[in-house]
Amino acid sequence: MSEPTLVFEEPKQRKKPPSHFADFTPEERRAKVEELGLPGYRANQISTHYFTHYDDDPESWSDFPAAARTLVRENLLPPLITLVRSITCDEGMTRKDLWRLHDGVLVESVLMRYPERTTVCISSQAGCGMNCPFCATGQAGLTRNLSAAEITAQIVAAARACDRGELPGGPTRLSNIVFMGMGEPLANYNAVLRTVRNIITPQPDGLGIGARSVTLSTVGLVPAIEKLTEENLQIKLAISLHTPDDELRDSLVPINLRWKIKEVLAAADGYADKTGRRYSIEYALIRDINDQKWRADLLGRLLKNRNAHVNLIPLNPTPGSKWTASRKEDERAFVETLENYGVPVTVRDTRGREIEGACGQLAALEISSRP
Ligand code: SAH
Repeated sequence: MSEPTLVFEEPKQRKKPPSHFADFTPEERRAKVEELGLPGYRANQISTHYFTHYDDDPESWSDFPAAARTLVRENLLPPLITLVRSITCDEGMTRKDLWRLHDGVLVESVLMRYPERTTVCISSQAGCGMNCPFCATGQAGLTRNLSAAEITAQIVAAARACDRGELPGGPTRLSNIVFMGMGEPLANYNAVLRTVRNIITPQPDGLGIGARSVTLSTVGLVPAIEKLTEENLQIKLAISLHTPDDELRDSLVPINLRWKIKEVLAAADGYADKTGRRYSIEYALIRDINDQKWRADLLGRLLKNRNAHVNLIPLNPTPGSKWTASRKEDERAFVETLENYGVPVTVRDTRGREIEGACGQLAALEISSRP
């Protein structure tokens, strides 16, 4: 493995995405609308079209005067994400969308329909600076942060696909959002928080999806977790731990060189104390690397008195990787050991593997299709 390089700041030379209605607070939106010479109440109409009807094309808005439609499209609703292609599997119940952004950068989102819920997994950055060696996105490095509106647009597109009945089984409601696509959400804090507010704010100013249905997954940027705690939101926090010992974590999740496991868990405990929400520990099981019985014991001891739940993810090997998923018997033993400590544990399903839509795979297509 090469020396980890940790990138916190995005490369400066990139042109910012055009600003968009969804980048602003409801108050700011009203001010923006008035700056265009339109009455402030038009902001509510725009919100209703965008967040309730998932309609981002003002040309189709019959409650809007023609001149105002063009003004709004050009100034407040510039198209930010363009669909390049969709790939489906699981009889259409899993769909991966590849999006091109204004500067040609590509990102992906994955929509998954289950009997009782429909979840979208979204990207918060193009690439990622965290450099975890088992993750495809980590290998590509960070291209840039996404704007709040670019992240929100992935969710609105997913909500629209559900609403229009694009997935088998007929129209449904987008119920869950997970920040588990490309990028480290807490390294793009402001845009991610604006997005969370767009999700949880009741209609018409937001999508009106409950905070409890939103999961934010992080490598463990301690100051950002502490900041998030102060927001006192009911969103679910997931920590990508992947091993209970600092020695191995220093290489699996290189940000561990800066914030150790103890500090990350203390920050997560603070989050649970403040919000009352159990957090989850993500653990990609890698054969003979982090799946030994002694590590399960260590993890059990570490978590037994914490308000945490373990989500085991069978490793999805990235192209060219020497690592692979654990043997089934080792996975079972790992689960049993944790259960013996009374630690709640589940094994994540592996939706979307055959379309490179599974955990950590979202950049693979991007790299191979980059011009
Ligand atoms: N940067 C955030 C979100 C990334 S992806 C984070 O690290 O939490 C969401 C989860 O998928 C993380 O737990 C990540 O470690 C995991 N993951 C990445 N690559 C994977 C792979 N190849 N197989 C299984 N899980 C993987």
